[in-house]
Order: sequence, then structure tokens, then C-alpha cells
Amino acid sequence: MNMSDKIDPLKVLEVFAKHGYTTHFFNSVDEANKYFEDNIQGRSVGAGGSITIAQMGLLELLSKKNKIYSHSYSGDSSDIAKAASADIYLTSANAISATGEIVNIDGRGNRISATLNGPGEIYFICGVNKIEPDLPSAIWRAKNIAAPKNAQRLVRKTPCAAKADKCYNCSSPERICRATCIHTHPLFSAPAHIVLIGADLGY
Ligand code: SF4
Repeated sequence: MNMSDKIDPLKVLEVFAKHGYTTHFFNSVDEANKYFEDNIQGRSVGAGGSITIAQMGLLELLSKKNKIYSHSYSGDSSDIAKAASADIYLTSANAISATGEIVNIDGRGNRISATLNGPGEIYFICGVNKIEPDLPSAIWRAKNIAAPKNAQRLVRKTPCAAKADKCYNCSSPERICRATCIHTHPLFSAPAHIVLIGADLGY
């Protein structure tokens, strides 16, 4: 059983709400997508590479009524800078804690940077599989579950990529773990939303 199975996502969202985030819970991807479709129209929407968002088909959906900037969606690397200055930035997280922290590890830095410097609203979108009980376990998850799986997906020459079993704290030139960001509260510069979905999504 995943630890997140024991943690009530609504209680987790109460903690994030106390930290100043706008919170949302949806039972399914379909419910979440309907919310986004109804509430984001006529905007520019940026996103980094996110398996969660790809599994949701969210960018395809929003592209009908919004301008999308995402290099992983378009294949156009010039979208990286445009995504960071979009009206809205969509990202998942490597882990979130029941104590109200969001953990992301980045190699290029575009995702972390956009969540720190983006001028618009930020949505952190996570399946309940990303919930951990506290900050140390959220950092552990980001390092030992999310990062190795991403290294494997990206076919990096790192010791974790073969089995995606754990972090070996490598010194590989292709190491994808180069900065770890912990959000504890929304930044003054950008309102932020936490969206939890009652499904396993992403890594
Ligand atoms: S530090 Fe190296 S071994 Fe650890 S998860 Fe990142 S890329 Fe893999």
C-alpha cells in the first residue's frame, strides 16, 4: 500500500489552504479537466515536461481555447522561455507533504524557475500518489522515486536509470538532479493553486 493511501487528501488540502494556497480536490481526471476547461479560456498557458499533465491530456484540451507554451508538448525549445512568462503555469510536483510543502527536483531548472519567477498564476497538479506524510519523506520520494523514473524515461546515462530503483547520488554528467525546490507558501509574486486528483498520476 502506498503511504498516500492512508492520508486523507482533503486534510492535506486544509493544511495547504492555511499556507495560503487555493485548493481543489477532484475525484477523477475528467472532473479536473472539466474544471480547467471551464476556468481557463483566452489565456496563455505554460507548462514544463510533466507526465501527470500529459496523462491528463490537459494541454490538448486547453489548446482549444488558449495559447499553449510547452517545449515538451510542441517540441519547440523556444517555448521554455515563453512558458515562464505565460498568464498561467501548470506543473505537477515530485512530491507534496501532508504538512504543506511542495518538492520539485530539476535538471534544466525551467520548471523550478517558472514556479519561482512566473508572473502569472501557478497550478500544482498532483495525483494522490504524490502525497507523503512529511517533508523528509517528500524529499525522499522526489529523490528516490520521481527522479530515477524520470532519468529512465529520459534515457540518461545515470546509475538510477537502469532499474529506476533508487537514487545513487551520482556524479554523472547526465545527472538530472541539479536543484531541489521546496515551496512552503505561495510567493508574493504569483497566486498558487494546489490541485489534488483522486488517482495515481505521473511518478
Ligand atoms: S542524483 Fe543521479 S542517481 Fe540520483 S536520481 Fe539523480 S540522476 Fe539518478
